[in-house]
Amino acid sequence: MVTPLMADHSPQARAAEGFDKSSFRIDWTTRTVRCPEGSTSIGWHPVTQHGLDAIVVEFDRWDCRACPSQKRCTTSVRGSRMLTLRPKEAHEALARARTEQKTKTWKDKYALIAGIEGTVNQALDITGLRRARYRGLQKVRLQHAFSATAINIIRLDAHWTDHPLRRVRTSRLERLAYKLTA
Ligand code: SF4
Repeated sequence: MVTPLMADHSPQARAAEGFDKSSFRIDWTTRTVRCPEGSTSIGWHPVTQHGLDAIVVEFDRWDCRACPSQKRCTTSVRGSRMLTLRPKEAHEALARARTEQKTKTWKDKYALIAGIEGTVNQALDITGLRRARYRGLQKVRLQHAFSATAINIIRLDAHWTDHPLRRVRTSRLERLAYKLTA
């Protein structure tokens, strides 16, 4: 499956100069994390969140309160930064995928797939292709041929009139997959 991971929506990732997860260096052997200001975490707590394994990393509140970059890092009332990580394999796979999806090769590949998926969505929405309107294989085959012809004409018209193509929808499955892995 070639599909983009949804963006990191944490306040730190959305802020112009915020410290998102990728700003931290994780040492899986010693179970510690080093922050961009050079402080080392003081807590590494394996937990279960929504039925999945996760690790909550805790930084010392006195380090964070005295930190010149605190505003870029945390908005917590306690004043200290907490990080939630996935287990090592999942975390590294996510990081790899996020890096890869910024490359031109990946974007070109996804653009191709997005065009195909857009066409499939259009066929389903416009011609109601999910349901057979008739009984009998021959009639259903004829329905498919009519649907394909209609879609070809619609897309040719879009091509000739520079009409923008459909955007790809983010399915519930994709959104759920993100929720489980982010
Ligand atoms: S707020 Fe805490 S975790 Fe964040 S950069 Fe400063 S010392 Fe490091």
